[in-house]
Amino acid sequence: MSHLRVLHDPEPTLREPSIEVPVSDIGSERLAKLAEDMVETMRLENGVGIAAPQVGVNERVIIVETGKGPEAFVNPRIIKRSFTKVDSEEGCLSVPGVFGIVKRHRKIRLEAFTQKGEKLSMDVDGFPAIIFQHEIDHLDGVLFVDRVVRYTQAPKL
Ligand code: ZN
Repeated sequence: MSHLRVLHDPEPTLREPSIEVPVSDIGSERLAKLAEDMVETMRLENGVGIAAPQVGVNERVIIVETGKGPEAFVNPRIIKRSFTKVDSEEGCLSVPGVFGIVKRHRKIRLEAFTQKGEKLSMDVDGFPAIIFQHEIDHLDGVLFVDRVVRYTQAPKL
């Protein structure tokens, strides 16, 4: 396992949308290695989630601490969002030292593949729902600071 370098804002590739992992590549050795290294990196950096573009790979792969341990999700898609939103105080490994309040949907329905290629459909709420929204934003080139309604610890100018 490797501790990968985490890219920091304003690295331009963090702002680029990531491509889907081709179906033929889901379940591959390469993807398993990427997911394993992302889990290791997230743990060493004390994160609860990480997205592939944060380690310089612009592909739709995320790791989320689901409560059952860190799990990899490939080509995740939110297909349903609750009308109700919650205030979430967030930070990001790619924006060190900055924290702020973001509005997130309380519940989501998610479709994704596991790293082994099983198709998942799941309803998620609570803290994991927030992590999924944060990480999937990364796949679209969006950082939490783009959505902040109020900083709790502002960027130093
Ligand atoms: Zn982040």
